[in-house]
Amino acid sequence: MDKVVLITGAGKGIGREIALVFAKQKFHVAACGRTASDLENLKNEIEHIGSGIYIDVCDISRESEVRGFINKVSEVSGKIDVLVNNAAVAYIGSIFDTDLKTWEQTLKVNLTGTFLITKHTLEFMDEGAHIFNIGSNASKIGFANWSAYCTSKFGLLGFTNSIREELRSKGIKVSAILPGPTNTPLWDSLQGDWDKTKMMEPKSIAEMILHVYSQPADVQTEEVYIIPSSGGL
Ligand code: NAP
Repeated sequence: MDKVVLITGAGKGIGREIALVFAKQKFHVAACGRTASDLENLKNEIEHIGSGIYIDVCDISRESEVRGFINKVSEVSGKIDVLVNNAAVAYIGSIFDTDLKTWEQTLKVNLTGTFLITKHTLEFMDEGAHIFNIGSNASKIGFANWSAYCTSKFGLLGFTNSIREELRSKGIKVSAILPGPTNTPLWDSLQGDWDKTKMMEPKSIAEMILHVYSQPADVQTEEVYIIPSSGGL
């Protein structure tokens, strides 16, 4: 059986590129997101590459959907070698404009959703497995008008650093990937005049993850902080 990589939010943006980069290395891909058509497009492309793929619509913030998705992945593949917690939502707004629903939804997807996927995936991970959590430069820097997003990404880094210590004795590696601005559909729904020519391409982030995964067993890459060579926005 080929190695298995599970990627959340794989229908577009960085997650989609991660799926393609790993599929080209003959990984079997398990992919979720909320938009069925995006996942179908990914499936076609990965089958064209010649790798296997299982897709499912799953909202990572809903435990019953997460459990159903992971159980089906385990039925198809038995074990999971790599987990990439990539799915997230972004929101821009001052503290005055951020309502409770938006605040809670941001934390529920970016933080609680990542917790749920990780918890249920771990049942099917053995020694040698690797978890990647996609944080952000907003895991380290507070940006004005991004408080809900920054809070979720700071929290995600705390979660990442904590489970790394818990999983060390099981031989499971945990890496935080912290990108700066990257040219994905995420920016299209955010109010502002964003210069995408100053951003990184999602493929660059995907290739960095593969590079980290490819390190020898005696190396634990705890954190990768990557910003555009342009200096960013
Ligand atoms: P994107 O283009 O907006 O894609 C996000 C993906 O996550 C979509 O496939 C989306 O699926 C999925 N998703 C969102 N909510 C979900 C949920 N509740 N359940 C399941 N899937 C869900 O974003 P991106 O730019 O590729 O971002 C990927 C990761 O990189 C995120 O963690 C983001 O915070 C991080 N990041 C991005 C940047 C950047 O500049 N782009 C910078 C730093 C960090 P649907 O569309 O079907 O909902």
